[in-house]
Amino acid sequence: MAKHCSYASPSGWNAIASNCRVQGAPLQTDLKTRYLIVGAGYAGLAAARRLAELYPDETIVVVDALAPAENSSGRNSGFMIDLPYAKIVANASQEKSAWQTKLLQAGKALLEDIVQKHNITCGWGETGHYKAATTHFGVGELRAVERTLEQNRVPFRRLSAGQIRDELGSSHYKQAIWLKYCTLVQPAELVNGLIASLPANVNVFFDTPVTAVTGDSPYLVTAGGHQITAEHLLLCVNTAMPCFGHAKYKQLTLYTYAGLSRELSQSESEAFGSAAEWGITPVERLEATSRKLGGKRFMLRAGFSYKRELPAEKVRKMLVDMLLARYPQMSADLFEHVWGGAVSLTRNGDPVFERLGDKLYGLSGCNASGILKMTMLGKLLVDSIAGVPSALLKQTQELSRPNFIPPDPIRRIAVDLSIRKIQHQINQSERAPS
Ligand SMILES: Cc1cc2nc3c(=O)[nH]c(=O)nc-3n(C[C@H](O)[C@H](O)[C@H](O)COP(=O)(O)OP(=O)(O)OC[C@H]3O[C@@H](n4cnc5c(N)ncnc54)[C@H](O)[C@@H]3O)c2cc1C
Repeated sequence: MAKHCSYASPSGWNAIASNCRVQGAPLQTDLKTRYLIVGAGYAGLAAARRLAELYPDETIVVVDALAPAENSSGRNSGFMIDLPYAKIVANASQEKSAWQTKLLQAGKALLEDIVQKHNITCGWGETGHYKAATTHFGVGELRAVERTLEQNRVPFRRLSAGQIRDELGSSHYKQAIWLKYCTLVQPAELVNGLIASLPANVNVFFDTPVTAVTGDSPYLVTAGGHQITAEHLLLCVNTAMPCFGHAKYKQLTLYTYAGLSRELSQSESEAFGSAAEWGITPVERLEATSRKLGGKRFMLRAGFSYKRELPAEKVRKMLVDMLLARYPQMSADLFEHVWGGAVSLTRNGDPVFERLGDKLYGLSGCNASGILKMTMLGKLLVDSIAGVPSALLKQTQELSRPNFIPPDPIRRIAVDLSIRKIQHQINQSERAPS
């Protein structure tokens, strides 16, 4: 049954995190446990930590198909935005918008507490972020974001063309604003740190794919060729949820891509703008995110593909083209690491947070911004199992309502159409007089 996600290239973040990488071992024997979690991303790790805290006398078992931090959690761009007005205000009701913001803020407090308590070195920086427009269409969108921020009295700084060139080193951006409310992190270092600091009553097995689940509490789970008998089963498997037979019509899988530069020379570093550390998120939905890291490296995340990972050469070319559009003076061989990662999207942005059967639970639908959200939802999922009430849990149970997504071929057509629609809006605005 279950197919898991495997990637063509390793995470560049994990490759440069050599000083803190966890040595994961696969499952070597059959096991019996009360709590089994499948998935060692932010969702599964937060669930494991919370279970261990609530049940110190139980042994909590986690299995993952991949090596430590080789999942989406260890291959993302590391933006932890805890006030995403631009994203949520447009679509969500006030109630949903407030709930999602609370989730992110609670997720940040939870992660920060763990990072501080365990001295996890992961480049945690309250850097803020730029929101930038590369097209006329984007400029219009950015104006709308500014109006929303003003209405909600959220402070931001608008950059002049000269400030954009000076701070970001590029003339590619037509307009930009800077906001706080974004923490930047080295995602693979964070994931390795989260694994290493799990309580002693959590056992995590890597390179241990789940290939079959039978029974009904207790579940008989085949993992890495061994049998695990589990009373409670928590599926924190992101894009793989449909492979377990759940959320098939609630989520779809998109791949997105990232490149990380080799160490920059002094002059290359200066060419990426005056500050040592910055992050840019795009205002146009299909555009790129980028980061400058401690003055030493540059990262670019861009592009999407439906359901399947693009060939490595195509990805590299796309990223290099995007790099050169922004920084034409850079060398085309700047990227030392190039990789793809998968995300699960729901139609209305709500996560899948569900009881799927008797003592069977599922958490997915990260919607491409899951560091804070999936961390908090992992904890709340366990609170729902253990009967630990909170206002945020109640809201999550009431408001997580991902709606129906038709299957292929309609699904594929809808994805293509929405990508084309955004592209068309951009093309139209580029032709219009400014
Ligand atoms: C390139 C990229 C950039 C991104 N940038 C950001 C960003 O800047 N900020 C942000 O907040 N989010 C970002 N995201 C999204 C973020 O990475 C995800 O939302 C988050 O990692 C989801 O966490 P998770 O625990 O739900 O899933 P995952 O990290 O995907 O973990 C799920 C785990 O389940 C395991 N699994 C699946 N099937 C099986 C099986 N059969 N057997 C065993 N194990 C299985 C997988 O191996 C995996 O480890 C980005 C994602 C990508 C790909």
